[in-house]
Amino acid sequence: MSSEILEEVMSANAKYVNGFGEKGKLALPPARRFTILTCMDARLDPAKYAGLSEGDAHVIRNAGGRASDDTIRSLVISHKLLGTLEWFVIHHTNCGMELFCDDVMAGLLEDNLATAAFDGKSWSNPRHGGGCAAGHFIKWHTIKSQEESVIQDVRRIREHPLVPANIPIYGYVYDVKTGRLDEVAKATEAGRCGT
Ligand SMILES: [Zn+2]
Repeated sequence: MSSEILEEVMSANAKYVNGFGEKGKLALPPARRFTILTCMDARLDPAKYAGLSEGDAHVIRNAGGRASDDTIRSLVISHKLLGTLEWFVIHHTNCGMELFCDDVMAGLLEDNLATAAFDGKSWSNPRHGGGCAAGHFIKWHTIKSQEESVIQDVRRIREHPLVPANIPIYGYVYDVKTGRLDEVAKATEAGRCGT
């Protein structure tokens, strides 16, 4: 089996290895002791938009940058075992998670598993048949408003019993048109350290 992407990735990695230098000596815990939770969107590069180098910080990514159960698991490990002291929740404008709701996703999957098409308003399957009903039993953590989703996620993390009160959680929306991080003041407020 050959894949163009596979070859490109291996070739890029060979170059990376050549310039790897002293990075093999980095410590496991993140040196700058912070964590970013953000969306998997291909236009976002947290290393670039937040100025990270290897070894600096934890970056947790998923669809939407949501504070899902598995995100909580990673955050708790990030602090409890690896010493991070400040956390960022960063959602972004024009997120794909705004373009569907749970029922739409489950309906598409129930019909067919191949990539669906979006016409700017709604989704449709290019072929039919061979789908699966399991999508009805998953919460997809879609987003209606970026600001609200950041506030919700910061609150969920802040209120989680395994998250200590002394970790500040900052809430931001990344603007895909400018690359700027805009603070969601209500989220940062909700994420302030407790006493
Ligand atoms: Zn997104």
